[in-house]
Amino acid sequence: MVSLPNNQSFKREDILHQIKDEQLTWDILVIGGGATGLGIALDAVARGYKTLLVEQSDFAKGTSGRSTKLVHGGVRYLAQGNIRLVRQAAVERGLLLSNAPHLVKNQTFIIPVYNYRDKWKYTLGLKVYDWISGILTFGGSVFISRKATIESMPNINANGLLGGVLYHDGQFDDARLAINLAQSIIEKGGCAINYMKITGLLKDENQQINGALIEDAEAGERYKVKAKAVVNATGVFVDAVLQMDNATGKKTICVSQGVHLVLDKKFYPSDHALMIPETSDGRVLFAVPWHNKVVVGTTDTPVEEASLEPQALENEIAFILDTVSVYFIEKPRRSDVLSVFAGLRPLAVPQKGKQKTKEISRSHKVIISPSKLFTMLGGKWTTYRKMGEDMVNRIEKELNWPHKKTTTASLHIYGYAKRVNWNDPLYFYGSDTPKIRQQINENENEWISEKLKIHEMQVVWAVEHEMARTVEDVLSRRTRALLLDARESIRIAPAVAKIMAGELKRDDEWVRQQVDYFTKLANGYTLK
Ligand SMILES: Cc1cc2nc3c(=O)[nH]c(=O)nc-3n(C[C@H](O)[C@H](O)[C@H](O)COP(=O)(O)OP(=O)(O)OC[C@H]3O[C@@H](n4cnc5c(N)ncnc54)[C@H](O)[C@@H]3O)c2cc1C
Repeated sequence: MVSLPNNQSFKREDILHQIKDEQLTWDILVIGGGATGLGIALDAVARGYKTLLVEQSDFAKGTSGRSTKLVHGGVRYLAQGNIRLVRQAAVERGLLLSNAPHLVKNQTFIIPVYNYRDKWKYTLGLKVYDWISGILTFGGSVFISRKATIESMPNINANGLLGGVLYHDGQFDDARLAINLAQSIIEKGGCAINYMKITGLLKDENQQINGALIEDAEAGERYKVKAKAVVNATGVFVDAVLQMDNATGKKTICVSQGVHLVLDKKFYPSDHALMIPETSDGRVLFAVPWHNKVVVGTTDTPVEEASLEPQALENEIAFILDTVSVYFIEKPRRSDVLSVFAGLRPLAVPQKGKQKTKEISRSHKVIISPSKLFTMLGGKWTTYRKMGEDMVNRIEKELNWPHKKTTTASLHIYGYAKRVNWNDPLYFYGSDTPKIRQQINENENEWISEKLKIHEMQVVWAVEHEMARTVEDVLSRRTRALLLDARESIRIAPAVAKIMAGELKRDDEWVRQQVDYFTKLANGYTLK
């Protein structure tokens, strides 16, 4: 069992109990349970503020569970001359590795080079990248020979290959980090709840925001919560919340979609990630080893509508397959794709003129409305902690609160474990791994998926300790089955639903609905 200080609990009933307390005024109410909201809420609670975070769906259901899984300074941003962002991200990359070493690792990348211009361009460019990272570097970059490149990257197209530029960056599990951040918020004495939607904002007689209306997506009940500061951290949905404050407000966000394909490791049987620095549309493309599979992406397609379940476009899928096929000897086909997932970038609308989405800065920006709604725009997973720190500093300043120093730079995130065996299929539970392993050992025969190494006890654990409420929560974000092998996740959904029904005291109708819903959703992650 997990024991928490301050009578805190991961149980929904216990969290709801605090939300229902009408006498309570929260210091900070954060709307949105993605990287941005979780980073802000953790910074706030760690400074001692009474903090509540509400997420309309599940933690990391939005963009934060659909990233390329890189903790990186962003070689691409260096090419754009955004040295400040690269330096900031390099600092945060180092902090994240030391605060969540169970989820973040030092990852080597190789850029294969086929002409002398690229050899010098990337060798020198990555030296600048090393230099910007300074003592926070994950390791120096180096040019490696043609022979070493072929040995390091079996299946790489060796035709005309001169060698490779090897450099270091970070790699992580995005949704697992989000769950651990929610657990850290609770562990520190705050509240974080999923399936709880903000439907309106409350204002005092001076038209200043002093709370919000929230709706429990499970029970349908509505509550009023009072708060001294309300933060809009809803990613691509920020404009919808800004409209609740001011129906005539201008658009602040533009949305760009990025797609990833997941392939079997046989197409890229390497421990080094592949970095393709210049695709035909002038972007970068990665093939990153992840949970014994390879994640390939991404694209940058402007979209009009924000959605929680964006769909990959045919031309994006074809673009990724065509691009990697230039670099792989054995070329992946559509039928080889194990899963396809799309995410939406919340990009701050540029001030000067029209820019292509790939050129818009990934830096974050705080805006404060006249009614004192605090909104965070843009940003990256890598810089989520700094975004949290900046937002809480701005709240303190704007509301004339005495400044309390942030403590998140050295705060160990829930699950912190220094020694990690990355080949252990349970590695991502960090300090909880031994407890889960013990339960698995006691019920040895109950593997739900031998292929993905998912055990019945992981489902029970997800419900009891990780706030999982639906089959999708377990298969998409507590385990990563949906992203790793969508068809296998559909196969095991009925078994997962049955176990969850036992834990959550649900009936057969719930099981049926969950399996139907999940199957339909997961079909969207498969390619016909
Ligand atoms: C394809 C792609 C790849 C990326 N790769 C990387 C990478 O490798 N490394 C990196 O550092 N960054 C990466 N990023 C950027 C990073 O993923 C995002 O910047 C980050 O996840 C955004 O987090 P967020 O919390 O702002 O948004 P989200 O994760 O979308 O969270 C917003 C949340 O708000 C909730 N919400 C909305 N309205 C309400 C409401 N009314 N009430 C309650 N909740 C509400 C939503 O349900 C959602 O969960 C990538 C982005 C994309 C799109």
